[in-house]
Amino acid sequence: MRIPSPVDKIKFRDLEISVKRDDLIDPYISGNKWRKLKYTLEEAKRKDKKLLVSFGGPYSNHLLALAAAAAKFGFKSYAFVRGEQVDNIQLTLCKLFGMQLHFVSREAYHNKKLLFEESFAYNEAAYFIDEGGAGENGRLGCEEIIAELTEDYAHIFCAAGTGTSALGIFHGILRHKLSSKLHVVPVLKNLKLKEVFSNHFPTAVNYIIHESYHFGGYAKVNSELIEFTQEFIRSTGILIDPVYMGKLLYAVVNLTCTGQLNADQKILIIHSGGALGTLGFSEHFKF
Ligand SMILES: *Cc1c(COP(=O)(O)O)cnc(C)c1O
Repeated sequence: MRIPSPVDKIKFRDLEISVKRDDLIDPYISGNKWRKLKYTLEEAKRKDKKLLVSFGGPYSNHLLALAAAAAKFGFKSYAFVRGEQVDNIQLTLCKLFGMQLHFVSREAYHNKKLLFEESFAYNEAAYFIDEGGAGENGRLGCEEIIAELTEDYAHIFCAAGTGTSALGIFHGILRHKLSSKLHVVPVLKNLKLKEVFSNHFPTAVNYIIHESYHFGGYAKVNSELIEFTQEFIRSTGILIDPVYMGKLLYAVVNLTCTGQLNADQKILIIHSGGALGTLGFSEHFKF
């Protein structure tokens, strides 16, 4: 694992920004999925578990990270995959890393504890890992992103799916007494992250949640976002996906263009990985 992950200084359009390359931590156990799994895998080892059981959609970055991490660290892995049986690059990679896939209906998928109980209640070696690696262990791992920084930044940007990473990063900012402002860009609608943050940090003010860059919802894209994503990739050499990083970077550019963000101040973007996910959008690209 490439820890600490490097920080690249890049130029994009008129912007000079730094990028924390968590996507380079590992080609498959990428970005925040490694941050979120690290302590959970340590706990599984400590408890002498052999089989990691988790959950995800058919394009899940989490399942791919888990499959690769399980193979690397000597576990077996099993996944409940949401929806009808499909095949794609992510799932093929999961299978190559030895993960056993079990497709379940959306209704059944809803009750993850029950799915686990039904198949693994009597299997002492099996270990339940929640979808996306959410929870306290995940948050702790994400705090370490901040511990690795060697420079000060006025603004730190991250994307949010569940918000676990964003909470961890903000904990890190408070713990290390940084003056950096955290900007969080939810990539889905109705995440209610403002409530979560104000419950966790009732007195903190040094964060902002930008709720208008979800492009209609999770994994929803339009041609503007796709073109933006393509332009970013070919002009920086950094592979990103439209689902997380495309929306995050679009937000950064839009906030500076509209004067809501001062581009003369130091800006750090957390590249949370998931770049392979961009291959799922090949029919949208224009060449
Ligand atoms: C899963 C994922 C996220 C979202 O992380 P949360 O902790 O769920 O908010 C962000 N970026 C990438 C690339 C991801 O794969």
